Amino acid sequence: MADLNTDVRFIKGIGEKKALALNKLGVFSLYDLVSFFPRRYEDRSQFRLIAETADGETVCIKALVADTPRLMRIRRGMELVKFRAVDESGSVDITYFNQNYVKDNLNRGDLVCFYGRIECKGARRSMANPVYEHEGSGKGVTGRIMPVYRMTAGLNQRTILQAVRQGLDACGDQLPEALPEAVRQRQKLVQARYAYENIHFPADFGTLELARRRLIFEELFVLSCALSDVRRQRVNDRGLRLPAADPEDFWRTLPFAPTGAQRRAVSEAMADMTGGKAMSRLVQGDVGSGKTLVAAALIWFAHRGGYTSAFMAPTEILADQHFATLSGFLAPLGLRIGKLTGAMSAKEKRQVKTALKNGELDLIIGTHALFSDDVEYSNLGLVVTDEQHRFGVGQRAALIGKGARPHVLVMSATPIPRTLALILYGDLDVSVIDELPPGRQKVDTFAVNESYRARLNGFIRKLVGEGRQVFVVCPMVEENEELAVPLKSAEEHAAALQKEFPELRVACVHGKMKPKDKDAVMRAFAAGEADILVSTTVIEVGVDVPNAALMVVENAERFGLSQLHQLRGRVGRGQHKSWCILVSDNDSEETKARLGIMCKTNDGFQISEEDLRLRGPGDFFGSRQHGLPEMHVADLGADVNVMQEAQKEARLLLEADPQLTRPENAALRERVEKLLAQSASGWN
Ligand code: ADP
Ligand code: MG
Repeated sequence: MADLNTDVRFIKGIGEKKALALNKLGVFSLYDLVSFFPRRYEDRSQFRLIAETADGETVCIKALVADTPRLMRIRRGMELVKFRAVDESGSVDITYFNQNYVKDNLNRGDLVCFYGRIECKGARRSMANPVYEHEGSGKGVTGRIMPVYRMTAGLNQRTILQAVRQGLDACGDQLPEALPEAVRQRQKLVQARYAYENIHFPADFGTLELARRRLIFEELFVLSCALSDVRRQRVNDRGLRLPAADPEDFWRTLPFAPTGAQRRAVSEAMADMTGGKAMSRLVQGDVGSGKTLVAAALIWFAHRGGYTSAFMAPTEILADQHFATLSGFLAPLGLRIGKLTGAMSAKEKRQVKTALKNGELDLIIGTHALFSDDVEYSNLGLVVTDEQHRFGVGQRAALIGKGARPHVLVMSATPIPRTLALILYGDLDVSVIDELPPGRQKVDTFAVNESYRARLNGFIRKLVGEGRQVFVVCPMVEENEELAVPLKSAEEHAAALQKEFPELRVACVHGKMKPKDKDAVMRAFAAGEADILVSTTVIEVGVDVPNAALMVVENAERFGLSQLHQLRGRVGRGQHKSWCILVSDNDSEETKARLGIMCKTNDGFQISEEDLRLRGPGDFFGSRQHGLPEMHVADLGADVNVMQEAQKEARLLLEADPQLTRPENAALRERVEKLLAQSASGWN
């Protein structure tokens, strides 16, 4: 007897080789097999009359073979079988290339179902290599909705289809019901067996929709339970209890008033830090919204409570900038501030480490070197990191091992749509800074094509003449990427610009440079030693150059909207009126629509929602994979409402059975555990 854990080799027709191919697709057991859902479907359910088909349509027809199939040799190695088929409405010429056996299978007068693409030449219709079966043969390749599976070498659709059929027949009845009965009823969802049967072999599109709805819900429900579990563990994570303080004492020391959103974020974090639990909070705010100041307030707060803070930046140059900014806010208040980066000499590093260990520093700013083994903290109370360097579970454990249980603050400038935030940061509390400091000017944005090149150059000349600096960003060209239109590489474009502006200082940073060299060029630009900086997207990470007033993006069609928004955020950071020019010769509707959004709004959240809508969640995160859990049926971008329902139901269920220990929740528990195990290194 087979059960869901049985190896796929159990299936008739699946030998060693095919089993290995299936393994490549993640299919090992019969359970994996029946959970291997089709990626799309072909509608072969409706038979059409030949006369009513149009050129280019892919259709099913039912027709009589009207003459004896003839074998013809076109040339060496190319033979074809040809005949005519007719129904009551008309006729079609059918050919099979290099499939001579068709000649023996089909005879004049046979009633046959064909599925293929119609081609029309004048009044004549033809079909090449259609799928066929004799009417009533029961092969089931026509007259129904056909699933289409993800493929790999050594398999074909038919093999998978037949394997899934056998798998369902063997153990479809043993499929565990992961959804509690009450949830299933309330959400009007079909049962597991029915759903698995019809996601593979739907009787019609209505049934398919029922199956999909149920499976999407199930997937998101399991995900919601898993996220709650992560969150629950964290709630039990006891943290330092800091003595309360009045944030006004900090705000009063600033040359400007904090925005309402900054106040709110700080109060929320202070509530965490005084509450006795370990804080894990994400501060999410658009570029320029003033996240650094929020961090500064909390560092001050930790210091008042007697604790040291650590601030981790993604690069050396950013560590330097944060060091300067935070020193500006905090040194006057008496905090002792240190820096630790890889570029420092061994002696300097040793001194800083010693000071840190002896409790002589109140704030240490650095790169990931901050958390290497030989760094010891005395009284570490708060860790601030940015999104790219979110604290993994492992790192937190390492710190706890060092005797520290710090509060954690994560800062993110990527405005993430609500659903994805719930998934990516489901284990974090979130403060949103949805307000920019007053007096911020909007960056005027224009999308132009090459015909504007001369005017753009004139504009650059004028701005630099006024003492401003200019960023020019080129897309990263992947090695061995085949391109229809050549892209501007940063180096080539920099050379071209230098030729265009012999009197100006043009600098260039690109992906192939060593981090140290990149840093040096960036620093020189920030110090005003170059007028134009040409780069690939390496500047995206957030270096502050308040004197830069123009951002030019070349081949703008190659960038995601959120990325463009981040780039645009590099200008308009000083008192100068700033511009962003998006250059693209691509005139597809999609590009126009996307660049149009950039010109229309400066609101990062609105842009990210549009980006998600236009590109889907996979592309949304682009190469910077954020470790979204892999979904089989659900679309994390599109199924927002289902996600909300699933979360609501998960919350209800977990209130009643927090650890899913009740016997009726055993199947769910198992799914949740499996998901958590898969993603241990991923999304939390
Ligand atoms: P981001 O959120 O992009 O990290 P920053 O923290 O770098 O933003 O802040 C951008 C600029 O705005 C900095 O120069 C900072 O000093 C300034 N700033 C922050 N908060 C305020 C405020 N409430 N009023 C005026 N300026 C502010
Ligand atoms: Mg910043």
